[in-house]
Amino acid sequence: MTNNTQRRFEGKVAFVTGAGSGIGRTTALAFAKEGAKVIAVDLSLESAQKTVSLISQETTASKIPDAIAVECNVTNSEQVKKAVNLAVETFGTIDLAFNNAGIEQPVGPIHEVTEKDWHQIVDVNLTGIFNCLKHLIPVMLKNGGGSIVNTSSSAGVIGIKGQASYAATKFGVIGLTKSAALDYAASNIRINAICPGVIDTVMIERLTGKTKEGYDRVLEQEPLGRLGKPEEIASAVLWLSSTDGGFATGHAMVVDGGQTVGIS
Ligand code: NAD
Repeated sequence: MTNNTQRRFEGKVAFVTGAGSGIGRTTALAFAKEGAKVIAVDLSLESAQKTVSLISQETTASKIPDAIAVECNVTNSEQVKKAVNLAVETFGTIDLAFNNAGIEQPVGPIHEVTEKDWHQIVDVNLTGIFNCLKHLIPVMLKNGGGSIVNTSSSAGVIGIKGQASYAATKFGVIGLTKSAALDYAASNIRINAICPGVIDTVMIERLTGKTKEGYDRVLEQEPLGRLGKPEEIASAVLWLSSTDGGFATGHAMVVDGGQTVGIS
């Protein structure tokens, strides 16, 4: 985890999607602890509000709130636009974004994936990030720069049995990230991706069914022999977002306990 005495994001505004749970909530909290104002965006307003209340317990009260919760489905371009506008109205601008909202695929081969499920996972995991980039970038262009991290996955780097549609979206996130990074490098907007391995969140609880067999199956993929912690992803996202990572753009940073390194 980042050094708690660091305040790398004082005066900065961070837009975080999927902020109501897991990696998104932990990263929203980490941004706030280092001084950023946070827009916590989630499909579930209640979950986003819970994140905001956790932030307010951690940060000092001021006239301006440290964070706001916004209900928004990232698949809906108009809702994303409204969330971005609300962030700008509340905090003046957006300097940082973590486009992280995502859903999993039930484990199974591609012929068992329904067309409805295929479209849903593409809509959330890939179109959702496109929608965020589309509405965030004009704000950052006006601002003279910014930093964006998009959530891909180890499944964006290697194929994973039973995860074809999820992997298709996560490979797509890397293509989107690298190309957009080139589009905006000269405008001082850095765009990177984070590729987590198996991280201990409710997504993995759903995928494993919280059974021993389920956990054994995912642990087998992890050479370090354990699940990653959301804090271990948050610290990498903060590095990419900060001036510490100021020369990184178009990078897909793998933080995966060795999952994608090779055969072990
Ligand atoms: P999670 O289920 O704990 O949190 C995901 C959050 O996204 C939830 O709060 C959910 O309400 C929100 N969300 C879902 N659909 C949304 C939508 N359409 N609009 C707005 N918000 C929406 O999951 P997590 O494990 O924290 O995963 C976060 C991201 O990390 C996802 O993109 C996931 O694919 C990726 N990831 C997770 C793992 C892992 O092992 N947990 C590994 C690699 C990548």
